[in-house]
Amino acid sequence: MTACRVCGDHIGAPSYEVPAPALTSSTTLLDVPTRVYVCGVCGHAQSDDIPDIEAFYDTGYRISLSSENHDQFFAIAADGTIIYRTDHQAALSLRLLDLPKSASILDYGAAKADTLRKMVAARDDLHPHVFDVSSDYAAAWQGWVPEAAQATYTVPETWQKTFEAVMCHFVVEHVADPVGFMRDVHNLLRPGGTFLFSVPDVAGNPGDMAVADHLNHFSQASIVHALTSAGFEVETVDNTSFPGAFFVVARSSAAALDVPGTSAAAVEAAKQARDICAFWDQASVKLKDGVERYAKRKVAIYGAGFYGSWIYGRIGQAVDVVAFLDRNENMKGATHFGIPVLSPEDLPGDAEALFIGLNPLKARAAIAAQPWLERPGLDHVWL
Ligand SMILES: [Zn+2]
Repeated sequence: MTACRVCGDHIGAPSYEVPAPALTSSTTLLDVPTRVYVCGVCGHAQSDDIPDIEAFYDTGYRISLSSENHDQFFAIAADGTIIYRTDHQAALSLRLLDLPKSASILDYGAAKADTLRKMVAARDDLHPHVFDVSSDYAAAWQGWVPEAAQATYTVPETWQKTFEAVMCHFVVEHVADPVGFMRDVHNLLRPGGTFLFSVPDVAGNPGDMAVADHLNHFSQASIVHALTSAGFEVETVDNTSFPGAFFVVARSSAAALDVPGTSAAAVEAAKQARDICAFWDQASVKLKDGVERYAKRKVAIYGAGFYGSWIYGRIGQAVDVVAFLDRNENMKGATHFGIPVLSPEDLPGDAEALFIGLNPLKARAAIAAQPWLERPGLDHVWL
């Protein structure tokens, strides 16, 4: 039994449980089981705490730190240029926040704060502030965030109730106590101030349910429940502008708010979360069959991201993985778990099976579009 991280209700049994290894969002393996619990009261899904969480984020978790220009691919624009994730986040954040002139804004859990840097480049009247639970990123803040506007490990007392806006991109899914976290944000905002955050939308990207360091898998219902409990009025829950994520805008309220009870939306969200857990259960069974069929034989894995890495964690010891195939130009020539990452066109001729490690909502179409992945004698194994 465990307590819901959002509403505190007791959740009896996990809806998904598999033995170690668990896989993190930065595709490293942890020697712990994966367990997901679904709350029928508020529609939240959550994973077990990961061991030594403070050290993990202080020194073990580095996003885009290796190179100045490394950024995650987001989409290709109509004119063929590549759109990077932080460019899209910056434009979307400016639109959703609609900040007044000279507003004071805090990037809370900022990492390198690329999104805020791009927002300030577009709006030089803004007063940027940054905070993170690691000092690894301080170098990336120099030159554009004033020294007094930088904080690590603890937020200065003098920052309480001072900001027009606080934003957190892909942070809240990692925290053990999301409502407590949102209350901390509430205390940093001026009355009526705006909180913008993004978190994965597990319904749009079911892989999120199996990510070990994502302790929270929010639904729209559990987002509303958490924010209301922390004293926010919800203004926008957008799950279309950034596929696979929620972008949420809420306003800090001075008055206590009525926290919603179980709603039809929460019941539906819980059902959807349990269905996703069932998907991962059957994916484990399919991989077990695949391992029995291809034990010690040569196979390739399509996708070196989360899904492909998850497959590797399940089959890597039992079969001979000769390559990961991936379209991401940044991974060309790299190795992943010591195995070469190749362009899909370079699928090794001796591979007898291709395990498909893609978002199951998009996998069939992505593979069908690549005729070179159809070859007599090559079996496709789907999640
Ligand atoms: Zn709950």
